[in-house]
Amino acid sequence: MTHLFTRRGALAGLAGSAAFPLGLRAQGAVFDAEVAIVGAGAAGVAAARELQKLGRTFVIVEARDRIGGRTFTDTSLGAPFDAGALYIHWAERNPWREIAESLRVETVDSSALTGPSQFFDNGEGTQFGGRRANFQEISRLFDPDVAPVPDVSFVERVGSLGADNRGGATAIARMALGDEPENISALDYARLWSGDDLVVPSGYGALVERHAQGLDIRTSTPVTAIDYSGAGVVLETPKGNLRVRAAVVTIPVGVLKSGAVRFTPELPAETRDGLDGLAMGALSKIGLKFNGQRFGIAPGTDLWQRLGPRASFDFECWPFGRDIVIAYFGGDHARDVVGRGEREALNIVLDEFVKLVGADARKSFERGVVHGWSVEPYSLGCYSHALPGHADSRAKLARPVAERLFFAGEATPIEEDFGGAMTAGGASLAGVAAARAAAKLFG
Ligand SMILES: Cc1cc2nc3c(=O)[nH]c(=O)nc-3n(C[C@H](O)[C@H](O)[C@H](O)COP(=O)(O)OP(=O)(O)OC[C@H]3O[C@@H](n4cnc5c(N)ncnc54)[C@H](O)[C@@H]3O)c2cc1C
Repeated sequence: MTHLFTRRGALAGLAGSAAFPLGLRAQGAVFDAEVAIVGAGAAGVAAARELQKLGRTFVIVEARDRIGGRTFTDTSLGAPFDAGALYIHWAERNPWREIAESLRVETVDSSALTGPSQFFDNGEGTQFGGRRANFQEISRLFDPDVAPVPDVSFVERVGSLGADNRGGATAIARMALGDEPENISALDYARLWSGDDLVVPSGYGALVERHAQGLDIRTSTPVTAIDYSGAGVVLETPKGNLRVRAAVVTIPVGVLKSGAVRFTPELPAETRDGLDGLAMGALSKIGLKFNGQRFGIAPGTDLWQRLGPRASFDFECWPFGRDIVIAYFGGDHARDVVGRGEREALNIVLDEFVKLVGADARKSFERGVVHGWSVEPYSLGCYSHALPGHADSRAKLARPVAERLFFAGEATPIEEDFGGAMTAGGASLAGVAAARAAAKLFG
């Protein structure tokens, strides 16, 4: 970016559109606001609310034409379902529980979504499926209170277990963390907080959107370059340059790693190391809408279809009694399926569902919607995990750059505590922490 402090020039081409407010003066330069928040997901919205509380001026720019990021309640099937975050994890300390309460948005225990499970091997019913695994035994391997967990791969950590437990552990990696177990640091996983989970019947994404109501968010404004070589930070967007004193950058790790945003000067080695040590999983969801037929499947039932050692689908049937089925799938299998394009992905998933419940399902199928987060350009993955041997990566990414760039989101910890990583709750805590750090610049 070469046009430092030439925002007016850039805006001249916008036929008078008031893209950004103007007029703060600091260190001899004119800034559009004290802080820019890049991204209006859980982290960005939380950062904005905190800066508002602290009385700072800020501008939020968001690449998509909607807010919420990886929290998104899709209503295109006629009933809401969460295409991204669903559970308010570790609700005891999750800020979204209190936010829901204050907005009078109903939350219920996650058991409301839990029903019986049925297991299939390539369409053939099997009695046990993954249930032969002893999940308590697996959990002990990832419990730092039982024994220190080394920074090795998930696969290496569970190598001493019997075949059934190894199978159960690798299923956790793919379906909960979204990636192949050989790519995941056991220590990074072991640090995650646990607790009670709540769900939001009207949608987690809708809750985040409501919390953002009233904030001035510039949507459809992707930041393409960030220049922090001068006294402040200049953000390049197709709607003009934005000049601020500091930026809270909540762009997902996958997008940062892709090079879609150019940094000038290049990010410091520590930040780049942090990014190199993190990767994004590929958990995907496809929603299927039916005409009210249930095919003998009770609401809340999970149908697990195993297609081989590295590929499976979980079909969550009729959540909250709605006429929809949500297919979950992760890891390389998900990358392959969503990489084939929406139409083919949808056909694959419908075919697999029909194999389990019978041909009537095809007749009563109305429409579907694909959420392949690993191919969406503004997420490029579901959430981050550290690669084996790189459990220190989150802390590296979280360190402020040049006292004016503050990376925040599900990938970054708060004060050396990594437990909230991967979640919308953790992203919000990180957003608040980054906002406070940025606000300190102004006394
Ligand atoms: C399928 C799935 C299931 C999940 N389930 C859960 C769950 O049950 N519970 C839970 O807590 N979490 C869950 N998560 C994770 C959770 O959704 C994320 O951890 C959290 O929402 C991340 O918030 P964030 O603000 O860090 O990032 P995001 O929500 O991704 O926000 C970043 C924002 O930056 C924007 N952006 C990207 N590039 C640019 C750019 N160049 N310029 C401007 N803006 C840009 C994006 O559009 C986005 O809005 C799930 C995620 C997925 C995908």
